[in-house]
Amino acid sequence: MITHAELTEARERAAGYIRDAGLTISDSESTLIEVADFGLGRLRQEGAQILTLVQTDRFAVKIIVLFPRQTLPEHWHPPVGDDPGKEEVVRVLSGTMLVYIAGDDTMRAGFVPPGKESVYTLRHEIVMTPGGQHTFLPGDKHWFQGGKEGAVVFSFSSVVRDALDGFSDPAIRRKTEIGE
Ligand code: ZN
Repeated sequence: MITHAELTEARERAAGYIRDAGLTISDSESTLIEVADFGLGRLRQEGAQILTLVQTDRFAVKIIVLFPRQTLPEHWHPPVGDDPGKEEVVRVLSGTMLVYIAGDDTMRAGFVPPGKESVYTLRHEIVMTPGGQHTFLPGDKHWFQGGKEGAVVFSFSSVVRDALDGFSDPAIRRKTEIGE
């Protein structure tokens, strides 16, 4: 759960990051920025700010903002019916994003949120800077972390079904609850 004050502050800050990255968004779009705490109630440590630009039954384009050292928890996009699951391309626009995927342990720049070793299983680190791009095939586990200056990232994907995403941390609830 996050408070209204946290929601508003994170939205305004994320809108600033997006504009500083050179993208134009309207004030009304900035009020649509989703602030996701993944039900963990520690947004600065584990969370993400997401602005959906396009979302149809077939594809989606989003902007993801990670604040400095903010971690988007480990997850994967499972198959749904005849669909093998969401295929996702991320491309960094500004800042640095650390991406973790399956593979040998190369973690140097980032860190697992303290106490969360068991629910962040991936340690293969890719340091992505502006222009860097990576594709996740359906079912590939991944997690992200903002570098010291945070990151603004495009996410291009096939159909989004956030509610069905799998998370390694059983405490996660994908839908953010807003408290007082
Ligand atoms: Zn993903």
